[in-house]
Amino acid sequence: MSYRETFVKRITRDYDPDAVCSKCGGEAVSTRYCLEGQMSTICHYIDKEHMHRYCQRCHHEWLERVVN
Ligand SMILES: [Zn+2]
Ligand SMILES: [Zn+2]
Repeated sequence: MSYRETFVKRITRDYDPDAVCSKCGGEAVSTRYCLEGQMSTICHYIDKEHMHRYCQRCHHEWLERVVN
């Protein structure tokens, strides 16, 4: 496994605007839209379009699939 691959997170679920944090149950979850090609500029996790969720309470991050 390369150094870079150790940072890759998987997209684990479909985008849910009402999602709560799976770690602490917090509802203060922010959403950012990450585009392919932005790897290492704004997102270090995966070079693929996704919704980037961030829990403001415990700082847990996870990735969601963009649903059209
Ligand atoms: Zn991201
Ligand atoms: Zn949390």
